[in-house]
Amino acid sequence: MAASEVLGIVKKTLLLLPGPVPVAQPVLEAMAWPMINHRGPEFAELQGRLERDMRPIFGTEGDVVFLGCSGTGGLEAAVASTFSPGDHLLSCPVGVFGKRLATIATSFGCTVETVETPLGSSLDPQALAARLEADTERRIAGVLFTHNETSTGVQNDMSAYVPALKKHGAISIVDSVSGLGASHFAMDSWGYDVVVTASQKALAVPPGVAMVAVSERGWSAMERARGARFYFDLLKAREFSRNGQTPWTPPISVFYALAVSLSRYHSAGMEAQFARHAGYAQAIRAAFETLGFTIFSAPDAHSVTVVAATPPAGVQAGAFLTRLREEYGVVLSGGQGELAGKIVRMGTMGDVSAGDILGAVGSIECALADIGAPVEFGSGVAAAASELRASTTVTA
Ligand code: PLP
Repeated sequence: MAASEVLGIVKKTLLLLPGPVPVAQPVLEAMAWPMINHRGPEFAELQGRLERDMRPIFGTEGDVVFLGCSGTGGLEAAVASTFSPGDHLLSCPVGVFGKRLATIATSFGCTVETVETPLGSSLDPQALAARLEADTERRIAGVLFTHNETSTGVQNDMSAYVPALKKHGAISIVDSVSGLGASHFAMDSWGYDVVVTASQKALAVPPGVAMVAVSERGWSAMERARGARFYFDLLKAREFSRNGQTPWTPPISVFYALAVSLSRYHSAGMEAQFARHAGYAQAIRAAFETLGFTIFSAPDAHSVTVVAATPPAGVQAGAFLTRLREEYGVVLSGGQGELAGKIVRMGTMGDVSAGDILGAVGSIECALADIGAPVEFGSGVAAAASELRASTTVTA
């Protein structure tokens, strides 16, 4: 039995949250490696390797900097380093996290205007294009995007906004905290300026490191920006990174874990990673639908990293999630903000096997029956199995 179980801190569970996610044993073990000098050559080599491994995942040839913080720290660094108080920004939220990014911007003195999107839908490229086209005086200095909105299980097609954005010329910030690594992202060819992700999602590492990729245009905007920043100064992070360091003491153990996880990620191959996430998401959606749930995201807006679903009539989300966790050890999330108590969310990220998905779906059937919902046992598992076997996830 693991020490954590003996101490009663961690029970054996199957964590299918939209983060943090199950972490593979070799990745966890890397966190027990001895410390190194973060101003020495080994650290420079480690960080250089992380940057090389992250570039193709961002789809960039440019700088990627590593910050010792969660995703929100990366987003704060992006906003504070890129914009100045008084800058007019266009926020394009499709849920809680997009709104939080706007709140960060207002906290740093920017004026934020919002393109509204109904919950469950993705950002309409035409709505964005119309607003940018109307901005003939180029008052909009920046546009804030969410690649994957974890609160609604919605993924924006980031290629769709590129023409309007390029035509306008505003600087863009993309929150891809729960998206990057799970599907194709082409920062350079699409032309996004600042893209932020974090260790504890599709990269399958414990929390503690945010990664920020910045375009040449993004760096130039940062050189012009006059906003207050200190710890989360991306220009400073770049200056140190180019000398193989971070400005402040980094979470070295999480850097080790990231190195091992990225090496595993690339040995499986990016396309296989993308197919796995898409296959799992498809299987989960099929199982939920078969069991009477309604998928919350619109058909053209499904995320590959998190499936959000409304429970069948008569099933209370909280009671279902509690039963599932306490009796079967399967941990899913509930809704956030105005969706609290209304939806459940299941993640596909991390060290999760097809067998884990099937086991979780079987447990979902049991938990539903336990709380009195009518269930045809095996129907959800059959639906998930059929999708998993049809995807490259199982057959490859
Ligand atoms: N943005 C998105 C889309 C997220 O899913 C999350 C976390 O779930 C965050 C931002 C915030 O990241 P963190 O909790 O790592 O600060």
